[in-house]
Amino acid sequence: MTKKITLEVVTPERVVVREQVDSLVVPAAEGYLGVLPGHAPIVAQLSIGVLSYKQDGKETTAAVSGGFMEVAGDKAVLLADTAELANEIDVDRALRAKERAEERLANRQANLDVPRAEAALRRALARLKATGR
Ligand code: ATP
Repeated sequence: MTKKITLEVVTPERVVVREQVDSLVVPAAEGYLGVLPGHAPIVAQLSIGVLSYKQDGKETTAAVSGGFMEVAGDKAVLLADTAELANEIDVDRALRAKERAEERLANRQANLDVPRAEAALRRALARLKATGR
């Protein structure tokens, strides 16, 4: 039998994923990071983006935002600020969040928290991308 990785994606609210997977690709602060069985132990900061993982050739995607990943032994644990599997994502909600953030960034009101608006936009875009939009 080929080696698997135990993938756990946990947020402060819930366990989002607990699966045996063949590989995963994670949005890390330094760029997308691929993890295969036998990967060296690492701790990486998570960014806002799309997590994908494969099981017997089938790919599943999820949106994640912030937190950390630890790879040790045959286990990858993501402690994420937020995470949703593609099939859990409310597309209309993400579209509304995207429009709100885009409007804020376009109008640039004096008291606008730019990094916050940019992060909201990136979360919305990651959610849309995870659903294939
Ligand atoms: P919104 O403005 O729509 O609340 P947000 O980016 O500010 O979006 P977060 O603070 O990242 O939302 O997440 C708050 C909670 O809502 C988290 O539990 C997150 O998983 C969930 N969530 C956010 N957007 C969506 C969505 N489009 N579909 C499903 N769950 C979502």
